[in-house]
Amino acid sequence: EHQKYIRNFSIVAHIDHGKSTLADRILELTDTVSKRDMKDQLLDNMELERERGITIKLNAVELTYHSQDGHDYELHLIDTPGHVDFSYEVSRSLAACEGAVLVVDAAQGVEAQTLANVYLALDDDLEIVPVINKIDLPSADPEKVKQEIEDVIGIDAEDAVLASAKKGIGIEDLLEQIVHKIPAPDGELRKPLKALVFDSVYDDYRGVVLSVRLFEGTVKPGDKIRLMNSGSEYEVTEVGVNSPSPVKRDYLMSGDVGYITASIKDITQTRVGDTVTNANDQADEALPGYREMNPMVYAGLYPTDNAKFDDLREALEKLKLNDAALEFEPEASQALGFGFRCGFLGLLHMDVVQERLEREFNLDLITTAPSVTYRVNMADGSVKTVDNPADMPDVSAMKSIEEPYVKASIMVPNDYVGAVMELCQHRRGEFDTMEYLDEYRVNVIYYMPLSEIIFDFFDKLKSSTKGYASLDYELAGYRPSDLVKIDILLNSDKVDALSFIAHRQFAADRGREITSKLKTIIPRQNFEIPVQAAIGSKIVARTNIKAYRKDVTAKIHTGDPDRRAKLLDKQKRGKKRMKSVGKVEIPQQAFMAVLQTG
Ligand code: GDP
Ligand code: MG
Repeated sequence: EHQKYIRNFSIVAHIDHGKSTLADRILELTDTVSKRDMKDQLLDNMELERERGITIKLNAVELTYHSQDGHDYELHLIDTPGHVDFSYEVSRSLAACEGAVLVVDAAQGVEAQTLANVYLALDDDLEIVPVINKIDLPSADPEKVKQEIEDVIGIDAEDAVLASAKKGIGIEDLLEQIVHKIPAPDGELRKPLKALVFDSVYDDYRGVVLSVRLFEGTVKPGDKIRLMNSGSEYEVTEVGVNSPSPVKRDYLMSGDVGYITASIKDITQTRVGDTVTNANDQADEALPGYREMNPMVYAGLYPTDNAKFDDLREALEKLKLNDAALEFEPEASQALGFGFRCGFLGLLHMDVVQERLEREFNLDLITTAPSVTYRVNMADGSVKTVDNPADMPDVSAMKSIEEPYVKASIMVPNDYVGAVMELCQHRRGEFDTMEYLDEYRVNVIYYMPLSEIIFDFFDKLKSSTKGYASLDYELAGYRPSDLVKIDILLNSDKVDALSFIAHRQFAADRGREITSKLKTIIPRQNFEIPVQAAIGSKIVARTNIKAYRKDVTAKIHTGDPDRRAKLLDKQKRGKKRMKSVGKVEIPQQAFMAVLQTG
């Protein structure tokens, strides 16, 4: 029957190995997108994705492939991000599929996120179809990469597809393998509806649009549906698939990947991982859903205009529908007023959330310095978790502080092992093991404080290995550390949003670095501003921002009107991301200064 000719798969890989380009070629070869509408990385349709050249969101499309066996197959392809901050998108995509296409760069070989993503797929018992991409590159060595896939990942790579997504080589071979290796979905049409919500997005007109994978039953407009975990019920207004723009369907059935709308306006009732069933004929039990993600870093998010607090709350609620890893709760800062403490999976995630809130919801925001979550053992025997340095209890009330550690895996050519070890050591890393991937490359494992790795570690790692290193990490418990809180005073007032935590050994140095950095970032005013760093009541660093003498409005010396407009626009944006604290204007960069030192 129908399902025999359905195949559901995700494309997974390390960042830049060519997932999105491979998706382009598949869309092209199957005539899903006309030549005229084709463009590079077509599925990266978010403005931010195109600007940055990276995939941020999973993206599901339906296409039809006419196989060499004479049958037409309906393929549901899900393109996924490769960056570690968006791995939740990958795991949610995989749960909607029977197979995963694993792309490995023929010149780079297996990298840290290749492994991380393939393990996610294996956890879900998916059929893995390996593809060695970029065989057009002069430095490509497909045979070596085949061997590496077998040795390091432990899957059969004998028949791996040799492809060039750029040149369009191997695409048909890949589609044949998808059709013949990945199993068709099973599940009964006659049973009550059982569909997994793997993503969602808020639409002003249609309400919440649910991305679903049907495991049993069917769904059509007019049906009464129930979200099993939240218990809310709705009437379906539309069902369809993305191909890649939305196409209405009369119904969706078991095995399909598509969308459902049901005039859902109450956004707090919808959650990814929930199960959609019939309101009147319910499935016996809900699908297992997803594990909740634990944020790695927290930061405060404040509107530059205090009156926009409620707008920000609404924007966060809507964005959360499309970014299930985002967490937030209200908080107040003496310096910044009312905002939200938000949890993110990493700094790129944080950056993307701020950008999306500003672009998609027309807000101007300040994010405060990010922090990991500390565990504080209090003198009275209780334990406190602190994700905002400003909330760190007084030293006299604490027995000890513990900080989160990660197990970091760094893959690198062996020429750079020395440089990597030096960097890790400097970041309070503890060497664990080192294993050879092949003759030339090793996987170096370190235990390190999360706070040392999450900020600018990756940039430092890249620059000390000429870009050759890749990094993956997972949480590995808490360990006691000798940590102190450093407060920053501007004009003699403590700015709570600038406080940060550092290891005692480096605290005074960090204090000095930050104060001199702030001096260059905070604009001059018509009076002198002292900038101080303090540990408790002890001042450890001090500098002054001199008063300005005359108007220093920047002049833009450029003749090109396009470039001029861009610069002005940039200036405007930079100007907006500014918050008045007392008499001092603090720009966004000031809150990030703490990340750029050490
Ligand atoms: P993703 O991060 O895995 O989605 O990778 P993209 O599809 O965005 O591609 C990353 C970069 O690799 C882009 O500059 C592509 O043009 C390039 N690329 C992708 N496939 C190939 C290929 O087969 N050969 C070559 N030479 N470059 C490729
Ligand atoms: Mg991509």
